[in-house]
Amino acid sequence: MLGPVILAASRSDRLRRLVSAAPVTKPVVDRFIPGESVDEIVPIVRDLTDQGLELTMDVVGEDITTPAQAEAARDAYLELIDRLKPLDLGTRAEMSVKLSMFGQALDGGHELAAANVRPVVEAAAGIGTTVTLDAEDHTTLDSMFAIHEELRQDFPQTGCVIQAYLFRTEEDARRLAASGSRVRLVKGAYKEPAEVAYQQRHEIDKAYVRVLRTLMEGGGYPMIGSHDPRLISIAQELARTAGRKLDEYEFQMLYGIRGDEHLRLAAEGHRMRVYTAYGTDWYGYFMRRLAEKPANLRFFARSMVGK
Ligand code: FAD
Repeated sequence: MLGPVILAASRSDRLRRLVSAAPVTKPVVDRFIPGESVDEIVPIVRDLTDQGLELTMDVVGEDITTPAQAEAARDAYLELIDRLKPLDLGTRAEMSVKLSMFGQALDGGHELAAANVRPVVEAAAGIGTTVTLDAEDHTTLDSMFAIHEELRQDFPQTGCVIQAYLFRTEEDARRLAASGSRVRLVKGAYKEPAEVAYQQRHEIDKAYVRVLRTLMEGGGYPMIGSHDPRLISIAQELARTAGRKLDEYEFQMLYGIRGDEHLRLAAEGHRMRVYTAYGTDWYGYFMRRLAEKPANLRFFARSMVGK
């Protein structure tokens, strides 16, 4: 069970320094995080949208420690939005944000994160697109859902993420489906205790299907965030049964994972959105990708020893 060990390491500052400084890390990291700056990412946005894909953009970073860092995160998104404006992509390029990067874990963090994320949502609306609030560990979710609800009063298209592995999610899904939200459903990427989350893969998959049925039958816009081929075909079946047309739900996958499948689904007429992360503070995001698939870790370890 390597996954939980890697997830624990994803919160270690010592390892963060060691891994981030290793020169051999970069080519491996590039597979999941294809740029460090806005200059590097804009051509990638153009390339992916030219291939018929849609995007959700993540400026990587989380667990910041000062209000100044939270403001810098806000400004990084504002710069990105400004640079996307001339491309005129509308909702073909939306934003994903982690509220921990906007100050949620600091003193007075709920208010700080709410205040920092609002200008990003406003700026996104200004270029005809929208923002989705990512789901982080379970202790942050009440605050995230409250900020989501507040933002939706002025920007109803603001989305949020729910995680199938959490026991609470079926109830969250019913509430969000009833209010007509845009909701991304994922399995969940954090190390969660057995008191709050399913631990077995088959239990998580079954919960995913139950929650997805609720979203498909509800009044919102389901966003299926998964690379799992079984869940993708179940999602197509549930969408058909619920009478949803192709533009009434979408698939989402991470940049660097199952790229052929992105193109296959788009070619079939599905809306396929690629979660594209960039930036310099990539450690936490990268470690979660390693934890999801131990084969990635072997590849990474080989590159660390120069093989
Ligand atoms: P899995 O059963 O893990 O994977 C299915 C198959 O996909 C694997 O067999 C493998 O072939 C491939 N695959 C999956 N992951 C990898 C990988 N890292 N490297 C290589 N191949 C892989 N989690 C959160 O907790 N909060 C979020 O806000 C969040 N947002 C997300 C947004 C999107 C668009 C996506 C796709 C995922 C997001 N996640 C988020 C991560 C999610 O919770 C899962 O950890 C991740 O998607 C792996 O689960 P899976 O559904 O792909 O199924």
